[in-house]
Amino acid sequence: VSLNVKPSVSVAAPKPARPIGFPRPRVPGRQAIALISDHGDPAADIGKEEAGGQNVYVRQVGEALAKLGWQVDMFTRKVKADDPTIVQHSAHCRTIRLVAGPQDFIPRDQLFSYMPEFVSAFQAFQAKEGTNYPLIHTNYWMSAWVGLQLKQHTNIQLVHTYHSVGAVKYQAVPLRPAIADTRLRIEQEVLENANCIVATSPQEEETLRSLVSQAGCIEVIPCGTDIENFHSIPKAEARAQLGLGQDEAIVLYVGRFDPRKGIDTLVKACARLKEGVNCRVLGVDGTCLIPTPYALNPSKLKLVIVGGSEPDQADGQERQRIEAKVQELGLADQTEFVGRVGHDLLPLYYTAADVCVIPSHYEPFGLVAIEAMACGTPVVASDVGGLKFTVVPEETGLLVPPKDVDAFANAIDRILSQELWAKKLRRQASIRVQQNFSWSGVAAHLSDLYRHLLAQSISHEGLWQPTSERLVNPAAMTKAS
Ligand code: UDP
Repeated sequence: VSLNVKPSVSVAAPKPARPIGFPRPRVPGRQAIALISDHGDPAADIGKEEAGGQNVYVRQVGEALAKLGWQVDMFTRKVKADDPTIVQHSAHCRTIRLVAGPQDFIPRDQLFSYMPEFVSAFQAFQAKEGTNYPLIHTNYWMSAWVGLQLKQHTNIQLVHTYHSVGAVKYQAVPLRPAIADTRLRIEQEVLENANCIVATSPQEEETLRSLVSQAGCIEVIPCGTDIENFHSIPKAEARAQLGLGQDEAIVLYVGRFDPRKGIDTLVKACARLKEGVNCRVLGVDGTCLIPTPYALNPSKLKLVIVGGSEPDQADGQERQRIEAKVQELGLADQTEFVGRVGHDLLPLYYTAADVCVIPSHYEPFGLVAIEAMACGTPVVASDVGGLKFTVVPEETGLLVPPKDVDAFANAIDRILSQELWAKKLRRQASIRVQQNFSWSGVAAHLSDLYRHLLAQSISHEGLWQPTSERLVNPAAMTKAS
């Protein structure tokens, strides 16, 4: 693997290649594997700057794999000196924080130069524990670079999940960061050289094939959700517990404050709903030629925005921008900024809502969609990325073009004003998640992939060939019925 990337710190000298075969398990009877998530700490608080879906994915997959019999070590970069170096989540699953660069928060786009230190720290940890992981599952492109470096020196099986694909992301941002070319090159290298890529939706697989490379192996295994935690309870009970009005029409946003999440589209759509009249055709003087009244009683509208932020960081700035928009559009009395909410209380918010809106400009998977649906809440989402896969239009919610304020307003209005249909959506949404997106199902599928890769590595059979007959075929996953 040649990356043509000059690291600022040299990587530890290659170790002699290991003989083929597995090292003796550190925990008798359990095969140790490593999950690497450079910036998404699996033990971190979720819902703040750069702590979102990737953290949840790695943590949940790790814990579920441990339940299936693996010894799971999850590696991330240490961002606070007083954070514990090792967090034990369960008997066979732990987070290990490696020192790579300053023990401080560093934005993703400035993190790459510390990855050689991350590789060295990983190798030092392995040497100290006397462990050699025969399989490493990396998350996000910088961890992919780490995995590719390790693969040069040892006989590891490398599995990678993108979480975000640069070639798509850079289409949606006005300014490409300086690191963009390096990222795009590494994203191609990993697709062509990893033993298998895990795409979280058929849409992501298509994207990788059309924008990144035709070479390499891809297996589609979706993200999941904790269906024991995210399930519906009576709406009235959830509202009472949260102090929300029983007759309010509650529109919910859950997620990070990031311009790519498109929260301003949602705020503008709510402002249209509050005006009460949809005006698609304007005259030359700006007057409304074809007014279409919304069905919703505008005084009942309530917008609830859930997500954490730090005032001096990028998410704090985005929150300020959204708050200013809410003020400017006269929605302040009908909007509540709740702040960060943990997964213990989030089911209450999802259940209390009449509709959950995901207005992202780009969304590789979008865990919030399946969390909301698991709680029986219909979703109105942008017709992009993984949301096209999880949300079934007219069955579990509605998909609309990203940034289209009128389309969002109309879709929200349809769900808020058709009680019987909304009830059907609620039921179908929760069935779809239960049948297709449980973490235990996702982990079983990953576990199957790992086992086959490890078996192949012993028998020299080469790259993993996905076989839809043997593994669940997500394209054929059941729709809500
Ligand atoms: N989240 C949370 N508390 C919050 C806001 C978000 O726990 O206040 C969680 C949310 O439940 C979901 C994750 O953050 O599990 C967001 O994942 P998603 O894939 O939707 O978006 P990402 O953050 O990866 O862009």
